[in-house]
Amino acid sequence: MKVLLLNAGSSSLKFELMEMKNEKVLIKGVCEKIGSEQSFVKWQTCEDNNVKEKDIELKSHRDAFYFIKNLIFDEALGYLKNPGDISAIGHRVVHGGKYFKSAQPIDDEVLRDIQELTELAPLHNQASLDVIFLCCEFFGRGILQVAVFDTSFYFNMPPKSYMYGIPYKYYEKYGIRKYGFHGTSHNFVSQECAKMLNRNLQDLKIISCHLGNGCSITAIDKGKAIDTSMGFTPLDGIIMGTRCGSLDSSVVTFIEEKESLLPKEVNEILNRESGLLGISGISNDDREIIKAIEKGNKRAILAHEMMDYQIIKYIGAYSAAMNGLDALIFTAGIGENQWVHRETVCENLSFMGIRIDKGVNKEKILGKTGEISDKESKIRVFVIATNEELMIARETVKCLRIKEQGE
Ligand code: ADP
Repeated sequence: MKVLLLNAGSSSLKFELMEMKNEKVLIKGVCEKIGSEQSFVKWQTCEDNNVKEKDIELKSHRDAFYFIKNLIFDEALGYLKNPGDISAIGHRVVHGGKYFKSAQPIDDEVLRDIQELTELAPLHNQASLDVIFLCCEFFGRGILQVAVFDTSFYFNMPPKSYMYGIPYKYYEKYGIRKYGFHGTSHNFVSQECAKMLNRNLQDLKIISCHLGNGCSITAIDKGKAIDTSMGFTPLDGIIMGTRCGSLDSSVVTFIEEKESLLPKEVNEILNRESGLLGISGISNDDREIIKAIEKGNKRAILAHEMMDYQIIKYIGAYSAAMNGLDALIFTAGIGENQWVHRETVCENLSFMGIRIDKGVNKEKILGKTGEISDKESKIRVFVIATNEELMIARETVKCLRIKEQGE
């Protein structure tokens, strides 16, 4: 049984074709910079580990979708012959708002709700909708399409963690509250962590740090997210590649007034020109920041210090919120590769009894996952490679089974 997974961003479209019998990825890739003159596609097949790259004009998600379609149906590769060879399609949808507490088979009602939520995640949800409609166009309306939402993992957070201290009417009128993001990733790594510990998720208090270009930290008690650092949008929390993280909101109105900017212009600054990039003035990519630190660049050092300090504070806060901690997880691009952050963060948490093996920590890069805490550590620390696509694939198959049982 083959499942197609699609993850539409504002200017990107990631794809994976998976054989579910053995959860094997047959082909995966990403169309990047859609809508610009620099658009390109990168992909990799299971037979050949070399990443192929092609510069190609992709004016829209439609162009990207049909490029992907031609690739996965390529006769020479032989993965698929007919549209019917795909059993179901799983979509990552960023915002499920108050509507979706789990993955949903997409029907007209679900589409209407995702559409309504575009107000809260304009670029992402609209891109997902466009791609869902393209799938209907090519595969027909008969194929099962499933939406897996980033926000679902947070559906049962208690109101005391998701409400903001602003007049209640704005929650009622506009749904202003913390929604949380990267839920599929936090859900996946916490399940993997329980397996590695050989314990039941129900008995564990876990903090997972998803540190990529976007960063979020989530407190997971008994398998349920009880708090998370991202908020109403992915802007909140710790500083990220280009996002500012938590901020006194007066800063926003102050900059707006002083620089005579429109709200959407300030929004752009906070989302795309801040974080590691804004502080260092060098790059949003942590690898570039490390290179600059090695040359003694003071602002790069500051950017790193800020990031680590904020991670430490969240871990402290969430341990207190859960009244304990059993395991700490690092995941995503930075979490899985940049050992130096893990070392700094864990050394600063020695008061909690966290101790890591520095040598083992340095080895856990480039997909090598496992435990980095030493035998004396009171809290177990893990590097776990996230795999949102696999989680989306499993959720899609679950929906397919339910549909088949109903027929
Ligand atoms: P996104 O949030 O866009 O999915 P990623 O999870 O790929 O981002 O994380 C991007 C960040 O991870 C960058 O700051 C980059 O420096 C870092 N990163 C990614 N891969 C590596 C690697 N192999 N070695 C070191 N750092 C990496």
